[in-house]
Amino acid sequence: MVSMNLSVKIFLALVLSVVVGLIAGPDALPFIKWWIAPIGTMFINLIKMMIVPVVFTSLIVGMTSIGDTKKLGRIGIKTIVIYLCTTAIAILIGFAVAGLFHPGIGMSMTSDAAVEVKKAPSVMQVLVAMIPANPIASMAKADILPIIIFALFVGVGILQVGGERAKTLISFFDACAEVCYKIIAMVMAVSPIGVFCLLLPVVAANGPSVLLPLLSVIGCMAIGSVIHAVGVYSTLARVWGGHTPLAFFKGMSEAMMIAFTTCSSAGTLPVNMKNTQEKLGVSREVTSFVLPLGATINMDGTAVYMGICSLFVANVFGVDLSFGQMAMIVLTGTLASIGTAGVPGAGLIMLAMVLQSVGLPLEGLALVAGIDRILDMFRTCLNITGDAAVACVINETEKKYQHA
Ligand code: ASP
Repeated sequence: MVSMNLSVKIFLALVLSVVVGLIAGPDALPFIKWWIAPIGTMFINLIKMMIVPVVFTSLIVGMTSIGDTKKLGRIGIKTIVIYLCTTAIAILIGFAVAGLFHPGIGMSMTSDAAVEVKKAPSVMQVLVAMIPANPIASMAKADILPIIIFALFVGVGILQVGGERAKTLISFFDACAEVCYKIIAMVMAVSPIGVFCLLLPVVAANGPSVLLPLLSVIGCMAIGSVIHAVGVYSTLARVWGGHTPLAFFKGMSEAMMIAFTTCSSAGTLPVNMKNTQEKLGVSREVTSFVLPLGATINMDGTAVYMGICSLFVANVFGVDLSFGQMAMIVLTGTLASIGTAGVPGAGLIMLAMVLQSVGLPLEGLALVAGIDRILDMFRTCLNITGDAAVACVINETEKKYQHA
């Protein structure tokens, strides 16, 4: 029992939560919300506790261990280009799946389903918000993108200082990052309990009856995610990443399950970094740079979701999307997924930006909102898997420079 693999334990916790949740049903919700859900929140808090320290320290370690700014630029550009391409492909896969299964056709909106939707930020607002006016304030708010930008400056600054003083700083941040990894390992040891307590309220509250009408969207999301994972990530892993698809997904299983249950790429980042290094053999230098960046700007699952949900909303409201509108969705969807924070539910807000860009009614969000938590599970799982696949590619392709 003690030797049971952690990912098996997490999976069992997941299955158990579904079984118990379905049996308990909504009647047991008060009890579950009072006694079980807080334990899930404690687990999430434990993970969240590590986000800012791990992003900040590991990015600096990642950059400084890359060493020279030329190599840093090469890895940076390669990473961002692959991230953008896989995101655009993800939206197209979303379109294709929704085009095939027509979710939402024959469904009509009920007016009482309308929900208050927060206004999505404009593209320029997203860009301005990336620059931290006060890095400490960004850290206090766990605003990851500005923290990344600040860490990038600190890293480049250290490289430019050079010499003994730089060495002292590098070993300081290196030790800090190491401490973060140790704490993450402790948190992971209790993850099966956390996963059970997080999922139980979701299953008990939603049950089968609430889910059935929107099953087609959930089904499309599941199919789209599998197609993207198998098609794109298997190819990346096999052709450029130095892993068979099976080895890749096996190595990723723990992190994928944590993402599936926590619905937070940022929250899964510590686990993803540990997994990618230990199970997929990616160097610390690469994971420390590629994964924090990916957890923030690379959201393939969110992109699949944008494709599916915009067609779904168009279907529900009887709108025929033109080719131009679809191209616009790919463009804004890619930008929106970059601006999506790696936290639960962030994609729903950014979907508003995409719908707005092609004039689709925002009321459609109300329908999606009801099942968003479930869709979020799939998209977060895909989001973090994409980051790891790209990390494998960068790791392998950088090897040729080491021998040169
Ligand atoms: N929850 C997702 C993530 O953390 C973002 C989203 O809502 O699409 O990756």
